[in-house]
Amino acid sequence: MNPINIAIDGYSSCGKSTLAQDLAKSLNYTYIDSGAMYRAVTLYILNNDLVKGDAVFDVKKALSDINIEFRFINGKNITYLNGSNVEDDIRRMYVSENVSVVAAIPEVRRKLVEHQQYLGRNKSVVMDGRDIGTVVFPDAELKIFVTADIEIRTKRRYEELMAKGITVSFEEIKNNLHERDFIDSTREDSPLFQAEDAILIDNTNLSIEEQFNKVLALAKGKISKGSSS
Ligand code: C5P
Repeated sequence: MNPINIAIDGYSSCGKSTLAQDLAKSLNYTYIDSGAMYRAVTLYILNNDLVKGDAVFDVKKALSDINIEFRFINGKNITYLNGSNVEDDIRRMYVSENVSVVAAIPEVRRKLVEHQQYLGRNKSVVMDGRDIGTVVFPDAELKIFVTADIEIRTKRRYEELMAKGITVSFEEIKNNLHERDFIDSTREDSPLFQAEDAILIDNTNLSIEEQFNKVLALAKGKISKGSSS
């Protein structure tokens, strides 16, 4: 067996995390949700009222107080911020509305990318995000770039939030996705774009299962290629 790293990047609410989790489970790999790390930093900043004033200075200071970890509980990856379970809080709208601004701050990226690279140092990791194939694991053996129609993405996120009991309008979600995609793709530090060697998957008309089978076959190809050479 040749353990590999799998990088899954793409626009907001494209089903990256579902795909990444299913792959990790099937391959017995570790799933890392890099977006959860940016969300946890954002939650900390919001909860501690650090957005006012000289944001960059405050964020720098705050970063040394932030400890993010994942605990695997009942088959799910749960995000912990300084020892507290923040899995639900980081998915709330007020975090979604601020996360892309926080994620554009170079000091934040430097700290989280270092952490992500450490988590992937022994391979066997599936990580999803915006810069995994371009910055975090430029040597990842398999890179996927996911996209989908904005209406479909909004509908999926709407249903996901409704199922969690979070009430928010369709338009509010759509605007948030547009805004995050814009900030993520145009920021100076590690903007979102498809790596040259990434495989593009538009899942607008694909079921979760179809997409999963496609990528699983690609992953198995890479894993067995390495073991025969
Ligand atoms: O993946 P998710 O939608 O939860 O990510 C939330 C936000 O975190 C993104 O909109 C983006 O601003 C930021 N992010 C990032 N780089 C990553 C993962 C997420 O900038 N690798």
